[in-house]
Amino acid sequence: MDYLCRNYWKCDYLDPGTMQIFKKFTFDSAHFLPNVPEGHKCRNIHGHTYHLSVFIDDKLDPHLNWVMDFSAIYKAIDPIIKSIDHKLMNDIPGLENPTCEQIAIWLWDQIKPQIPQLIKIELNETPTSGVIYTGKV
Ligand SMILES: [Zn+2]
Repeated sequence: MDYLCRNYWKCDYLDPGTMQIFKKFTFDSAHFLPNVPEGHKCRNIHGHTYHLSVFIDDKLDPHLNWVMDFSAIYKAIDPIIKSIDHKLMNDIPGLENPTCEQIAIWLWDQIKPQIPQLIKIELNETPTSGVIYTGKV
């Protein structure tokens, strides 16, 4: 089950004794989508208040009684958020075509090396639009 739950993108099963914790971040960034057809509104520079949730899957530490220190998550991710907050994301390497999906991949690639227990991120571009990404299998 361990293999399935850590790699199968639709699996909601949690191993016994495993917990998923999450932390939420917001950032405001500008972007435009250069590859959409002429006349598409997303070709124009505009901005969003993005909401990012990061999900971390691990065992409960029996002494500390937590999965991971929330402040450690914040310290790892805050510099990444600051690197795109109040920026034109198209100027950032890897975000030349910053769709919500591409931003999620970029965030995953930045966060995962620092937090190996990362299992899922959810990125909302608007209150009604977003993406869930679980990395590459
Ligand atoms: Zn947009």
